[in-house]
Amino acid sequence: MEGKINREWHTLHKMPKNPGMDQRIAWHLEHAQHCGCRKIEGKLAEEMKKRGIKF
Ligand SMILES: [Zn+2]
Repeated sequence: MEGKINREWHTLHKMPKNPGMDQRIAWHLEHAQHCGCRKIEGKLAEEMKKRGIKF
């Protein structure tokens, strides 16, 4: 799955417009289980580490 886009999942799960941090985290956690097109990194990864969320 690494690096591959799951188009069906993306069609069904659009990122909300102007998402809050909670929404982004929830989206990415779900995303990581279904699709490998994007990694969790940068500010998002830092925030999730701060919150003790494993990914
Ligand atoms: Zn994806």
